[in-house]
Amino acid sequence: MTAGFGIANLPYGIFSTDVTGPRTGVAVGDRVLDLAAVTGDPIHATGSLNAFMAQGPAAWAQLRRHLTSLLTGRAHRGVVERHLLPADAVTMHLPVEVGDYVDFYSSRHHAENLGKMFRPGSPPLTPNWTHLPIGYHGRAGTVRLSGTPVVRPKGQRKPPDAGPSLGPSLRLDIEAEVGFVVGVPTALGESVPVSAFEEHVFGVCLINDWSARDLQAWEYVPLGPFLGKSFLTSMSPWIVPLAALEAARVKPPARDEPLLPYLDDTRHPWGLDLTLEVRLNGELISSPPFAEMYWTPAQQLAHLTVNGAALRTGDLFASGTVSGPARDQRGSFIELSWGGASPLELKDGGTRSFLEDGDQVTITATAPAMDGTRLSFGEVSGRIEPAT
Ligand code: CA
Repeated sequence: MTAGFGIANLPYGIFSTDVTGPRTGVAVGDRVLDLAAVTGDPIHATGSLNAFMAQGPAAWAQLRRHLTSLLTGRAHRGVVERHLLPADAVTMHLPVEVGDYVDFYSSRHHAENLGKMFRPGSPPLTPNWTHLPIGYHGRAGTVRLSGTPVVRPKGQRKPPDAGPSLGPSLRLDIEAEVGFVVGVPTALGESVPVSAFEEHVFGVCLINDWSARDLQAWEYVPLGPFLGKSFLTSMSPWIVPLAALEAARVKPPARDEPLLPYLDDTRHPWGLDLTLEVRLNGELISSPPFAEMYWTPAQQLAHLTVNGAALRTGDLFASGTVSGPARDQRGSFIELSWGGASPLELKDGGTRSFLEDGDQVTITATAPAMDGTRLSFGEVSGRIEPAT
């Protein structure tokens, strides 16, 4: 039994085998349950979770009850066994057809660390930071499945004492993030209050929002991130349903400023007690605590739609880099090495400020489950390949 994929989790993904095309599966231990086969419902043979996610919370809850009954009832064992495939014998695919992709900036520790490095001499947080969850629209077309090779991007870099040149990024970085997938769309003009988060968001995954810091530092003024972020965003294969995360819900940290009513989440706290782990070539280098995030996903969604922007099924929004207060809780290399001034010391005697060709980064996460165990989010990983 793979730890963390027990009956209290039941995450959804898309898999194929030698004999079937991409279809929906549920991870159960070290096996994958073929949903189209076991339920007979063709919605699970469409090759993405989108059609099922669009059905909404009543359908999601009904299937979850049905699966729990199938997997725990002795009477169903014979039927279920036939449709459980070994996880190592299937090929995973991107689980959702991604609509829009929004990247937030909701960790106070991360924002303060970057503020200190990028804007020395100014207050680390910009004046808007404690009033709204800052975000930008990213590039949905380059959200790819975990394991996709990370080819070192090229772009304009400008050292402080020379002009700009085009070349491979010399400051390639990770961003350890948590992603939220929208199931139920909205009409143009509609907004989603924090109280309606569960009516729209289907589930949660892990994101590595690869970042080229040298490209980013030169290009980001005044409109924000562009090519330094858009070359690749990696997504974990399993989407953990919100329903599995009831035991992980926590109150978010106290806020500095009174919030505008549309962001007031006093009655609908959606802090989540996920513990992330970041490994470089197998070595644990950081354990970012998601419970420390200042802005919750419910507030992010309320803010994202307060102007009437419509949601589509498959929209993905990411938390922003998850960093805690301690050095070994930082979710990016620019923070772990303090912009290269204090390189990370590795167990093999090496050091690292930014990623080198051949480096493999894997992000995992666990959270408390309803049955007292810990549930797993699986992993999002990628290996750096040289620029072409
Ligand atoms: Ca990001």
